[in-house]
Amino acid sequence: MGRTPSRQSAGLCDSCRHQKLVPNTRGSVFSLCERSRTEPDFPRYPRLPVAACPGFEPRQSHPSPKPGPPTG
Ligand code: SF4
Repeated sequence: MGRTPSRQSAGLCDSCRHQKLVPNTRGSVFSLCERSRTEPDFPRYPRLPVAACPGFEPRQSHPSPKPGPPTG
């Protein structure tokens, strides 16, 4: 009986590897662009739905080795 929080379509971001979904305290889920961390030209929270983005990169269908965050 779980209620999945509904979420606005993020357009391109929904299939972009730079997207990170961030739930807030009100039960909404925001689409955060992780590209904004390294490239200030990209907004942290782009206006949705994103129809076109120069930074779009499709998600890999298989787990790709990535430089993980430092642990510890
Ligand atoms: S790079 Fe573009 S398409 Fe990808 S998450 Fe950021 S804003 Fe969305």
